[in-house]
Amino acid sequence: MEEVLERLARIKDLSEEIKKNEVILKNIPETIDRLKKEIDQKNRQVNQMKNRLIEIKKLYKLKEGDIADNENKINKLNQQIHAVKTNEEYRAILKEIEFLKNARTAIEDEMISLLEEEETLKQSLGNLEREIKEFVEQKNKEIQDLERQKEQIAQTQEKNKFIFQDEIKKLPEEVRKIYERIIAARERAICVVSDDGICTGCFTNVTPQTLNELRKKDRLVLCDSCGRILIYG
Ligand SMILES: [Zn+2]
Repeated sequence: MEEVLERLARIKDLSEEIKKNEVILKNIPETIDRLKKEIDQKNRQVNQMKNRLIEIKKLYKLKEGDIADNENKINKLNQQIHAVKTNEEYRAILKEIEFLKNARTAIEDEMISLLEEEETLKQSLGNLEREIKEFVEQKNKEIQDLERQKEQIAQTQEKNKFIFQDEIKKLPEEVRKIYERIIAARERAICVVSDDGICTGCFTNVTPQTLNELRKKDRLVLCDSCGRILIYG
């Protein structure tokens, strides 16, 4: 009987390890996904900055065009001013020139802002690119470790499942039937009872007599309260 009880203890340990590894195997791909998303997010941030730099260059070019237009208009007005015949016309042209000069100042201010933004952005981008290099290396290493871990656990899992089935098969038929009956209804079929006399399945106290029987290890004992197989340990 002691051999059967030892087998039951192994079955219990194996089933617990299999369940634990199942959870790990389920969690690893989720963790890998999260790490990949973190990398993507950083890359997106870099791309956003690069796109803004390109945009700034385009905007700056447009402003240069605006300045050139503005200059042409002022030049034309300066030529026209020689041909005016009335004071009103003269004042109107001067007013227009004044307006264009103000517009030019505004455009120049915008250009300075763009250059300042470009400068700041280039610095941030440089910092981010240095930071991201380390970040991505770190995250990729974590991903690789997780993939290795997953592979190892998957192998262990396969082996454990095989041993588990084998141990179940090796149980005496009547014990196996009891085990299968319990496992069909409950998540765990085998529970350890230590000297504190508590069934770890339903957390009730077993009787002193039951505890004595468990210690003797000469027959199969079920919990009076939950019906699970008890083993002493
Ligand atoms: Zn119990």
